[in-house]
Amino acid sequence: MSLPTLKRILLKLSGEVLMGEQQYGIDTDYVARLAQEVKDARDSGLQICLVIGGGNIFRGMAGAAKGMDRAQADYMGMLATIMNALAMQNALEQIGVETRVQSAIQMDEVCEPVIRRRAERHLEKGRVVIFAAGVGSPYFTTDSGAALRAAEMKCDALFKGTSVDGVYNADPKKDPAAKRYDTVDYATVLANNLQVMDASAVALCRDNSIPIVVFSIRERGNLARVLAGGGTQTVVQKGA
Ligand code: UDP
Repeated sequence: MSLPTLKRILLKLSGEVLMGEQQYGIDTDYVARLAQEVKDARDSGLQICLVIGGGNIFRGMAGAAKGMDRAQADYMGMLATIMNALAMQNALEQIGVETRVQSAIQMDEVCEPVIRRRAERHLEKGRVVIFAAGVGSPYFTTDSGAALRAAEMKCDALFKGTSVDGVYNADPKKDPAAKRYDTVDYATVLANNLQVMDASAVALCRDNSIPIVVFSIRERGNLARVLAGGGTQTVVQKGA
């Protein structure tokens, strides 16, 4: 894997990984385990921006499929990401990691608004900054939010921790012959509609030369392995 030297990363966690083995919601024990992995990464000297999805609670598309107004449902999805951000903040602070949540939907009583320069200061002080509510607009996802924050915070790479161990040329759940890429370029991901992140997120990373590392966060200790250049993952980057 040929990644740049990592000083600052954006870690995107799908909401569903917060469920642990549950079917819905937040498994606090599992969030505590994830928080420990984030702490270990921070303690290794990395500056960490965190984005957490909301799919364990509510997805706009699912609401829309049941007849809800899409924008309304998407706002509910964004609120779900704020709940997840607060759960992760709680877990991190219980193990002594200072954090700040910055939300793209202003909610002054519980978190800060997104202010890039303030986020810079937090990172310099060793705090983990959790960016909530995606880009703050419906018709987007937290993948786009992650790509946007990775670009504006000048992160060296975007690590997407999810339930699968990389990017495949077909859906591994449906096609047993599906093959995982070690590296793949942005153009192939976009042209073949590979399930990495939505196209707008991939395009934003491509335009800002931000490598995307897709790996399974469900495997214990995998974040540290992947950060050290080991483990199993797919790197999406230019001309791979
Ligand atoms: N969402 C949105 N705009 C954003 C980010 C999120 O409308 O900028 C909504 C959208 O409905 C999405 C939900 O929030 O389905 C939860 O986010 P996402 O699906 O990205 O979560 P994940 O799949 O990562 O758990």
